[in-house]
Amino acid sequence: MTAAPTLEQRAGSLDALADLIADGDVVVLSGAGLSTDSGIPDYRGATGSLRRHTPMTYQTFTRDPRGRHRYWARSYVGWRQIRGARPNEGHRSVGELQRAGLVDAVITQNVDGLHQAGGATGVVELHGGLDRTVCLNCGDVAGRAELDRRLREANPAFGPRVDEINPDGDAELPDELLDGFVMVGCLACGDGPLKPDVVFFGETVPRDRVERCFELVEDAGSLLVLGSSLTVMSGYRFVLRAAKLGIPVAIVNSGPTRGDAKADVRVDAPLGVVLPELARRMAG
Ligand SMILES: [Zn+2]
Repeated sequence: MTAAPTLEQRAGSLDALADLIADGDVVVLSGAGLSTDSGIPDYRGATGSLRRHTPMTYQTFTRDPRGRHRYWARSYVGWRQIRGARPNEGHRSVGELQRAGLVDAVITQNVDGLHQAGGATGVVELHGGLDRTVCLNCGDVAGRAELDRRLREANPAFGPRVDEINPDGDAELPDELLDGFVMVGCLACGDGPLKPDVVFFGETVPRDRVERCFELVEDAGSLLVLGSSLTVMSGYRFVLRAAKLGIPVAIVNSGPTRGDAKADVRVDAPLGVVLPELARRMAG
């Protein structure tokens, strides 16, 4: 166990962070920790409340129609929570730093769209976004809101009882109930199976998207990691690349991260405290 940082240590590291950001050309890499204040669990299942369920893998989703069907039934219920989520102070602060000309780009591992809702522009969604679907048959990309409308029509009576929903909005639904859910197919090709346009476990991030992120990192004045423990290589590789090129790395996260040894500045404190303070200093 390492001791929690003292207030003095935190103040010192916040000054160092402010100095780094003042140099500009910052590229942000954000993770699930940035959205927890908005009530969003980690839907990829690595650290969030959906850990109770076995995380859906790409292989199960594409090869097991019943598994896919149950995923969509749960997702239909969970979508209420995602749709109702609002950006928090952290998201808005990133938008302010961007408008102040200090942040060049945002790479996010989050699939909730809250960076954009919080005013950030040019966001690269490394793991895709829940606000759209992709057809596994024809590749058509469509909006999730339209799918939700069709699903409500097809399932007028489907929904968990209040006592089946956990405080965090997650629904524990019995399999018999899930099997009663009516799923719909792709409108473009007729009935192709739909997948949320997010990267599942066991699926690789599209190569051109990864290359785009490497380019952003290589051109950065510094890399600022927000709310990620960097446990998955998908995000950690950008920290390794920056460190290798001598580009300063700053990490703001509550608790230790895999990238701590590579970080020039490390702030172990809640994002909801650090980011508004930074925005006030730099962009206010
Ligand atoms: Zn299709």
